[in-house]
Amino acid sequence: MPTKSQQEIDRFARDLKPDVYQSVYGGTKATTEKRYEVLFRDYPDPDLLRQTAGQIKQHTLENLDKYLPQAEAALKANGAQVHFASDGDAANRMILEIMKANGCKSMVKSKSMVSEETGLGHYLEDNGMKCLETDLGEFIIQIDNDHPSHIVKPVAHKNRRDIAKSFEREGLGDYNDDPETITRRARKFLRGKYFEADVGLTGANFVSAESGRLTIVTNEGNARFCMAATPIHIAIVGIEKLVPHDRDLALFTALIGRSGTGQHLTSYTQFIGGPKREGQPDGPEQMHVIFVDNKRTEVLASQCSEILRCIRCGACLNVCPVYRQASGHAYRSVYPGPVGAVLSPLLAGSRFPELADLPKASSLCGACNEVCPVNIPIPDLLLRLRDKAKTEHAEKAMKGTPPMGMFGLLASQPHAWRAAMTMGAAMNLTPDAIINIVPPAAAWNSCRQLPKWRGGKFRNWMKSRSKN
Ligand code: SF4
Repeated sequence: MPTKSQQEIDRFARDLKPDVYQSVYGGTKATTEKRYEVLFRDYPDPDLLRQTAGQIKQHTLENLDKYLPQAEAALKANGAQVHFASDGDAANRMILEIMKANGCKSMVKSKSMVSEETGLGHYLEDNGMKCLETDLGEFIIQIDNDHPSHIVKPVAHKNRRDIAKSFEREGLGDYNDDPETITRRARKFLRGKYFEADVGLTGANFVSAESGRLTIVTNEGNARFCMAATPIHIAIVGIEKLVPHDRDLALFTALIGRSGTGQHLTSYTQFIGGPKREGQPDGPEQMHVIFVDNKRTEVLASQCSEILRCIRCGACLNVCPVYRQASGHAYRSVYPGPVGAVLSPLLAGSRFPELADLPKASSLCGACNEVCPVNIPIPDLLLRLRDKAKTEHAEKAMKGTPPMGMFGLLASQPHAWRAAMTMGAAMNLTPDAIINIVPPAAAWNSCRQLPKWRGGKFRNWMKSRSKN
């Protein structure tokens, strides 16, 4: 348990195993560098793109009452069936009913963050359906009975040796940690399952209100296979995924690959408007699109509505120093990292106090805002949520609060301030054994290093200036 003065995330950072830290730190750092290189090489002014994308998403959110019915009408005109689910339970029930009504028993599933929110996989299994994850990362999470730790790379906390052991345990071949061998084995295992399944489930990265067209990006082509090989396609989509026009998709597909994985374009980009048409050789006979609210309208009405612009690229996780130190499981929710520190407490609704400490899991360095392809002011939103936690007296948010009262007292008393500054220099000389006698100082000291004292220079400089 964290001590009284520690935030829960501190415990995760402190207890993180060195190889997990290496996997998370190495992976996020490399992706951040690739993102920077690709984005700035391809565009003279990436900031302009981020601002434009942010404005388009904000405009769409503010006009959802216009764009949602427009998308619904376009999808129906294309032959799709459209459903609206007020929450996760309703979405799960709808999917189960569609499966039962069509005599289905098994589903192959592409990666979808909304389905993580609703806990769809476990729900279907509990109701007698088979549900197989086909995204390689999610497949590994499923066989390990684990939880994703990153929204783009669910196994960011594992290395290839961990995965090779899991494959050996599951009878997918002798131990072999060569990444290509691992991928080939997963491919061989999964390929037959697509043809055995009755239903293919996907999410959607974007939905054009103009044409109803769903855009789905993957790096493995598994979403395409889920749709092409099964007779029923179900897409589970958050209501915030809309964009007004088809032409907007060019901007968003350009940004999501570059921001999320440092690719010019994600390997597979699917545009799906409806089920198979007469005369078409393959594709699903039925297509169902389920638009899920699950507290999104509450978020839209809150002071943090900008977070709904998020296109789930993961760039803010990759660049965040707290995420790199603590890993995704530290956020105790489906959405980790800076986006999760804002979105998870909001989506928790009345359970906000349980996650009220997450907005404090940030140094407010602003890196998340700088990389966000839809220009979400994440540090501002974190401050607004800290304020909300304080107003609501959320106990969890109070842990690890620096003694601002003491700072205020010192800062308003010049003599006390000067004395404290003199003491500061002495802190560097104080052995840990003595610092650790004071419980709050010991808790702070357990996972941080006191910076080397550099004070006094400014005062001396000012004094020398006044003499001259
Ligand atoms: S908040 Fe921005 S950077 Fe973070 S995942 Fe969402 S779109 Fe990407």
